[in-house]
Amino acid sequence: MTAHIIDGKTIAADLRGKVTDAVHRLLRDRGLVPGIAVVLVGENPASEVYVRTKSKMVAAAGMHAIDRKLPATTSEAELLALVGELNADPAVNGILVQLPLPPQIDSHKIIAAIDPAKDVDGFHPLNVGRLASGLPALVPCTPLGCVMLAKTAHVSLAGLDAVVIGRSNIVGKPVAQLLLAENATVTVAHSKTRDLLGLCRRADLLIAAIGRPEMVRADWIKPGATVIDVGINRVAGQEGQQAGKSRIVGDVAYAEVAAVAGALTPVPGGVGPMTIACLLLNTLRAACAQNGLPAPSI
Ligand code: NAD
Repeated sequence: MTAHIIDGKTIAADLRGKVTDAVHRLLRDRGLVPGIAVVLVGENPASEVYVRTKSKMVAAAGMHAIDRKLPATTSEAELLALVGELNADPAVNGILVQLPLPPQIDSHKIIAAIDPAKDVDGFHPLNVGRLASGLPALVPCTPLGCVMLAKTAHVSLAGLDAVVIGRSNIVGKPVAQLLLAENATVTVAHSKTRDLLGLCRRADLLIAAIGRPEMVRADWIKPGATVIDVGINRVAGQEGQQAGKSRIVGDVAYAEVAAVAGALTPVPGGVGPMTIACLLLNTLRAACAQNGLPAPSI
């Protein structure tokens, strides 16, 4: 079997297009421009690239981007004060504080200080609890993107045996909650799981969110299964053309798994582009809710 490659780049571009159309309608009919504040503390080069890309995409979608860059020496009190200011600003519909934060700042305290209605990352305990309770919530962007991609390969996820490898608050746990909400039978595996191989081999849907380059091999995969690769791992280039250059690989050994799986996301070009597209969607949803408007039908 050769897997159908789930083209996250195209699916994300399509989603961004729908969000952009809805943003234009919001401006035309209500005079509203959704705004998102992105807060970056310190000098992490990877975060800086990511934040720049986010700001560009926000602007391209017709939204207002408010970038706040603070020095690495920023105190917890100073960041809490900024979050308070953004909570109170009616032009700001979404607040995203880029993680990780410097060690003097407790990220849990910062996340808890964000107005849950503006928590477009979906990390506030209230949104986490609402998702777990099956109530409407702002849902973390990468997990939302994973489920959207999985749904392109299945008419319904109901009844599927889904295995999530990874139990982080950012990916593993929320993706498991979203799959439960889709009526999948969900198992969450992690670093202490016994017989990971046996579990994975039974999965109709496998989500890998581990952070270990190419750990998931072809013999872990049930023939025809859907595999969503969340991992982003930078590794040294191979011999030959790529020698000396680093490259990005996922948590899944792409070439060999593609020969067994029914559908597979590539890295790059799979889950990654969906994350920012879902952030735009969350910001649009937050702006509508804050203005008493129905959720956009996207
Ligand atoms: P994390 O380090 O917080 O969590 C990793 C999880 O993997 C843990 O729960 C751990 O128990 C599990 N794990 C580690 N080793 C294992 C093993 N040998 N067997 C089974 N389980 C094991 O990481 P995270 O924040 O959840 O991110 C996971 C990966 O996804 C990383 O590569 C990260 O870069 C990537 N990521 C991608 C996006 C995106 O937009 N595509 C967004 C977030 C994270």
